[in-house]
Amino acid sequence: MSHTNSHTAFGRAKQLMPGGVNSPARAFGGVGGEPIFFERGEGAHLFDIDGNRYIDYIGSWGPMILGHAHPAVVEAIRTAASHGTSFGAPTVAENTLAELIIDATPSIEKIRLVNSGTEAAMSAVRLARGYTGRELIVKFAGNYHGHVDSLLVAAGSAAATLAVPDSPGVTEGATRDTLVLKYNDADALEAAFRQHDDKIAGVIVEPVAGNMGCVPSSKNFRKALRELTDKHGALLIFDEVISGFRVAYGGAQELFDIRPDITTLGKIIGGGLPMGAYGGRAEIMDHVLPAGKVFQAGTLSGNPLATAAGIATLTMLRDADPYERLERLSSRLARGLEESAAAAGIPCSTPRCGSMMTLFFNAEPVTDWDTAARCDTERYAEYFWGMVRRGVYPPCSQYEAMFLSTAHSDKDIDATISAAGEVMAK
Ligand SMILES: *Cc1c(COP(=O)(O)O)cnc(C)c1O
Repeated sequence: MSHTNSHTAFGRAKQLMPGGVNSPARAFGGVGGEPIFFERGEGAHLFDIDGNRYIDYIGSWGPMILGHAHPAVVEAIRTAASHGTSFGAPTVAENTLAELIIDATPSIEKIRLVNSGTEAAMSAVRLARGYTGRELIVKFAGNYHGHVDSLLVAAGSAAATLAVPDSPGVTEGATRDTLVLKYNDADALEAAFRQHDDKIAGVIVEPVAGNMGCVPSSKNFRKALRELTDKHGALLIFDEVISGFRVAYGGAQELFDIRPDITTLGKIIGGGLPMGAYGGRAEIMDHVLPAGKVFQAGTLSGNPLATAAGIATLTMLRDADPYERLERLSSRLARGLEESAAAAGIPCSTPRCGSMMTLFFNAEPVTDWDTAARCDTERYAEYFWGMVRRGVYPPCSQYEAMFLSTAHSDKDIDATISAAGEVMAK
């Protein structure tokens, strides 16, 4: 398999963009080697600029739940584009998408559309602070909420630590009001509330973590999240940018039967175009400008192309209800990967929630950032390149989740398991 054209393109890209990419996860830092440049996608498959075909398991890191270039989505975008691409004024399509999301998501009564998951998280945190009049935000190590200054903080220890910025350019002031706790640790959350009580504005959490690999939350942890925030008058923010419309049509909150106060969404709701959203109870959302005083705005928010792609995608998901089939395919894939590893004597686990999962090369269960960090990342890099050579494109990092789409077939799953068997037996 040749990657000559990708090599040439990457050489040029490095002169044009920092690290040759427009988002760091694409640069293959976690597996070494050079990124592959793609020309097109069709269904479950990607085609690179050297003419190689791959079964795709990243789905643009979540959005492409219907697969690439789904005809209904393409047609919706085409029609919208022919009507004009942006007005900076209301459209009926925004009502339609808002209605679809509100009908689907148990805790959302009102919603604001934005342009990315980062923007949704940033706005949700501002709203939680504006609504409660409090300053502290709790987040969990290994959870990612976009590159919002106040949430871009290092993975802490089990103890509640006032966080240190994770990036140059993020001031200590920006993260001074962020507490980092251990994921899935109800005791640490209780201790933080005991110490800070009525200073905590909100707790932001991925109900199914997808940014340290796929790590579902425990039932006990979810119970503590809801009970403790209620008891102390803080808002519970579910970051469902990945899990929304992915683990169930109504997201993790439907699957786990828990109602957050604010929900952030992104990825799938834009159908592959830039889109995010945050929503919650009307009484909370009415604190956002111009109904209320919490400032948030956006020139391209509710953009006609993105709303068209989102409406087409959510309508398909609602009407086709593919979640059982996705569950069946992904459980079969997880089992197949585990059996391939077991046959080769390689310790692994495959935490999974519906159509998102991770193959962790680790003998112990992965429940938080500390256990994730003990994985064999060198083995993962070997596995990744072995799979690529066999026409499968898994996430280019041990710490990114893999995603299935409705376009994946049993044949794709079989081919993937068989490739994994060969790679791991080596
Ligand atoms: C991807 C992601 C974000 C950031 O979304 P962008 O659209 O990349 O800004 C935020 N939260 C979670 C849970 C995500 O997975």
